[in-house]
This record gives sequence, structure tokens and C-alpha cells, in this order.
Amino acid sequence: MWSALADKALAGELIARDDARAVLHAPAAELLSLLDAAFRVRRAHWGLRVSLHVLENAKQGACPEDCGFCSQSSKHGSPGGEAPMLAVDDLVAGARRAHAARAKRYCMVTATRGPSQRDLDTICAAAERIKSELDIELCASLGILTEAKAQRLAASGVDRFNHNLETSERHYEQIVSTHTWRDRVETVRIAQRAGMDTCCGGIVGLGESEDDLLDLAYALRDLDVDSVPVNFLDARPGTPLAGYPQVEAGYALRALCMFRLVHPRTDLRVAGGRELTLRALQAMALYPANSIFTQGYLTTGGATPEADHQMIRDAGFELELASGEAVPADPAAVTHLSAPTPPARRPSLPLARD
Ligand code: SF4
Repeated sequence: MWSALADKALAGELIARDDARAVLHAPAAELLSLLDAAFRVRRAHWGLRVSLHVLENAKQGACPEDCGFCSQSSKHGSPGGEAPMLAVDDLVAGARRAHAARAKRYCMVTATRGPSQRDLDTICAAAERIKSELDIELCASLGILTEAKAQRLAASGVDRFNHNLETSERHYEQIVSTHTWRDRVETVRIAQRAGMDTCCGGIVGLGESEDDLLDLAYALRDLDVDSVPVNFLDARPGTPLAGYPQVEAGYALRALCMFRLVHPRTDLRVAGGRELTLRALQAMALYPANSIFTQGYLTTGGATPEADHQMIRDAGFELELASGEAVPADPAAVTHLSAPTPPARRPSLPLARD
């Protein structure tokens, strides 16, 4: 059955919702066959290439929104800590470090409802410098956009804009009250109209039903996004979702396979929570997914670039650079550039694994 689903996806047909649901229920004894089916689809569009993406928390905490999973919300007391907007030089230095780790993409993220004019000026100035100095793709994740702000970002060299739907429209209002799921869809459309690629995914483990997860996968397909990051909840202390259970590793792999079969050509990323959720099974995620974050997340640590290079190499995959060139993953090729002195930060709770 899994192979027949791969055939459908490869033929460009959208797999039926009941088939996607069956993927989420695949018996443990069939997990390898399911991963093989997802891998056939992944390999047809992405070969054995894996791209590394690096996140930069350009402005941390004090966000006025109330997303229940987020430790950067001021509504929950910013338990992940607060730090002001980084300077242009710091953002450029972060991009150099990402490039030295052989990342394909560097993503500047701010914890905001939407970018202020001043923050936008900083991001755009950094984007222009980074694009003039380095061969690296640029992404920004700055909250809700207007058409004018999106056009400025695109003109400054930002290739891709991230704005996740997180979950289904139905479940979203259980998690967030300060903006709507429809607001998020509108920002994705604004970014598309400005000519940027769009990165838009969600989080597994928000207490959603199976139907919510399927709704998310099909809504993203309808939105025709270029990249789908699939996160697994890492429940943060101090947030309303603190204490939510971790997603089971086998379910996480089934969810990734479901996303791959619904999104055959999309840049599918196993994103936040990878290390915590998949543990020894992390390399298995490379069969459905073709990209990963390295060097940690916004408020939590993660695998080092050396460890990720090693995993990619051990599993027989190769790295994809911003140039499109595929090169061997090589921990010895990761260069460490010194980080600038970080701006003053006010952690109100210790950060796990930081
Ligand atoms: S908008 Fe972003 S930074 Fe702000 S609370 Fe929601 S997820 Fe966190």
C-alpha cells in the first residue's frame, strides 16, 4: 500500500485524505516500508541531498502575541529570556558562521507581531550586506507583513519568508488568541505576492487531533508553499503548554512520511524538537525530509554542525549548498568563527539544554 501511495505522489496525484490518515496509523512493523515509500518520492525530487538551515534569534522575547507553545511571549512572561534587536554587524557575523558550517540558508527571526520600521531597516540592511558578501540563501521570519514591508524585504535580497500556520484553523484558536489562523494565511499570500519563496509549516504535539494534523498538511498544499518545516513540540517551562507530552518517535516519523506524500516536491524540513523527539532515530528522518536545522533553535540548543555533518555522512546522504552544488558532508570542514558578545539578556527561567 505504501508503495502505491508513493507511485501516486510521483505521478503528481494528491493522495486521498484517508490514505494520509492510514500513514499516521502505519503499524510499527511497516515503518521501514513506509519510510522507503516516502524516500522514493524524496529521492525523485531531492536526490540524496540534505540542506542545513541556521536560525538567528535576531530579537528575543517580549512578543505581544500569546502563542501557547512559545517561550518568547510576554503574555507568559517571556520565559525563554529577552534580548533587544541585534545590530546589522551581528546579523552579518551570524550569516558568516552559518556559511562556515556549510549551511544553505540563514534565517533571521524576530519575536514580534510584525516588524517595526526600525527592525525592518536592520533586517534589510543586514540582508543587503549578507547577499553582497556570501553565497547563502536568506530567510526572514518577522511576523505579520504588509504588502509594502514584504516588497522591501524581497528587494533587499530576502529569498524566503517564514510564517507557520502551526496547526489547523480549528485548533489554532485553542492555542492563540491575539491573531487568527486566517491572519497567518494572509501574510503567507502577501509574501508570495512580493515574489519571495514561502516557508510555512507547523508543530506536532499541540494537543491537536489527527484531523487537525491532516487539515494542516492539506491547507499547506492548497497554499502552495515552497518549504514545510515540521516541528515537534518541546514543551517549554512557563508556557501554557508546559508539561504537554513529547511526541512519540515512531509517530513523528509517520507524520514526516505523511507530509512528504502530501507534498512530494516541497522542501520538507525536520525542524524544532528533532533531537528531543527522535533521539537515536534522527537519521531516519532524512528519508522523508530533505533539510534540517543545525546549531540549535531560537531559545533551545540542538545538535552541532559537526554532529549533523557526521549523521548525514554516516547515513549516505550529501550536503546541498546555496549554489545548488552537492558536496560530501564533512565534520572537519566546519569552520568555527568567533561569535560577537551577545547583547544583554534577561532569562527569567533557565533554558533547557542551552
Ligand atoms: S508570534 Fe512568534 S514569537 Fe510571538 S508568541 Fe507567537 S510564536 Fe512566539
